[in-house]
Amino acid sequence: MPHTDTVAVHAGEPTLDRKDAPITPDITVGSASGYPDLETLDAAMAEHRGYGRWGTDNHRQLEAAVAGLEANGLETRLDAVAVGSGMAAIAVALMSEMNAGDHVVAAHDCYGTTVTFLRNDLPRFGITSAIVNFQDMDAVRRAVTPQTRVLLCEMCTNPLIRVPDLEALAAIAHEAGALLVVDNTVPTPALSQPNRWGADVVIYSATKNLSGHADVIGGLVVGTPSWIEGARAFAHTFGPTLGPFDAWLTLRGIRTLAVRMARHTSNALQLARFLEGHAAVRQVNYPELEGSPYCARARKLLPGGAGALLSFELAGGKAALESMLSRLQLVRLMPSLGHVATTLSHPASTSHRGLDPAERTGAGISDGLVRCSTGLENIDDLIADFDRALT
Ligand code: PLP
Repeated sequence: MPHTDTVAVHAGEPTLDRKDAPITPDITVGSASGYPDLETLDAAMAEHRGYGRWGTDNHRQLEAAVAGLEANGLETRLDAVAVGSGMAAIAVALMSEMNAGDHVVAAHDCYGTTVTFLRNDLPRFGITSAIVNFQDMDAVRRAVTPQTRVLLCEMCTNPLIRVPDLEALAAIAHEAGALLVVDNTVPTPALSQPNRWGADVVIYSATKNLSGHADVIGGLVVGTPSWIEGARAFAHTFGPTLGPFDAWLTLRGIRTLAVRMARHTSNALQLARFLEGHAAVRQVNYPELEGSPYCARARKLLPGGAGALLSFELAGGKAALESMLSRLQLVRLMPSLGHVATTLSHPASTSHRGLDPAERTGAGISDGLVRCSTGLENIDDLIADFDRALT
């Protein structure tokens, strides 16, 4: 079995099947292919080839790479469908699986727009949801109804970086005849393989560390080949197609995913340890910190590290945060995560601004909480930047 870093470099690479074929993929920009006769046109249409909404070779290479990473070392074979954003991946996964009358049990600390989608959009199609604390297994069990088709949660939740007990959640889902769907955007398949612990479907916002350079909006849904067949058919009809250049950029990002995630993880842990020891910092959330309630679970489910994301709260609250932001030189504010450079975000103003203040407090998101997506800088420079800004 090849290692993850080897799979990341090779999975989905094009075959060298023509004279002087380039070693890196071409980008197919044509919106449709041309055919010499009815027979070849008919064969292409039957297989959903030759029309851009169904994807091109760039999509197939990306899908093979992500499915290959996700299935590496597992018995199960997996397939993937690439779509135009992480939210499109969530919509395709849920809407291809469910009918009117069905029910979702989702974690209360899912990405804010995921919660909005469950609350405001899916009910118009007759799909309802219960949004509960996924660290409380009794609450999850109580929320399941005979109509529950999906349990939905995130790995390394944004912004408190909680690690769910995937094995226990998979057991609850499977007992109810439902699927466990895991948004694995933050750790990426380089650090976490939810299928290993019982998940049925895995979702990515490729916008983040998967592509890795803050220049793509994209998403993927990963599952068994037979399940993906249904999700792909829905995506081909619904039409949230990823642009071919974005598919190409994401695959290019994946080639360095394993080395990037190793550096992101090492920087995140060292920065978390520095911040934890700083007098101006009240609380640091990072699962690999020895004092984290998620440390033992992270070591089991994320043996290669917990990824780039950490969050912290300053003792001086929002005013101290504004002062720190004005003094940082390397680190900038960005309403996203997963870039090569270290960036900060303010969840109360960005990902969770759709929640009312009481809901935000209930979800543990104070106005003084700042989320950090650690980049690839030299850790000494990064720590020096925060040290300067905090004193
Ligand atoms: N899932 C997670 C964990 C996210 O953080 C985000 C966006 O921040 C999304 C999904 C949605 O991704 P996109 O913005 O690509 O639609």
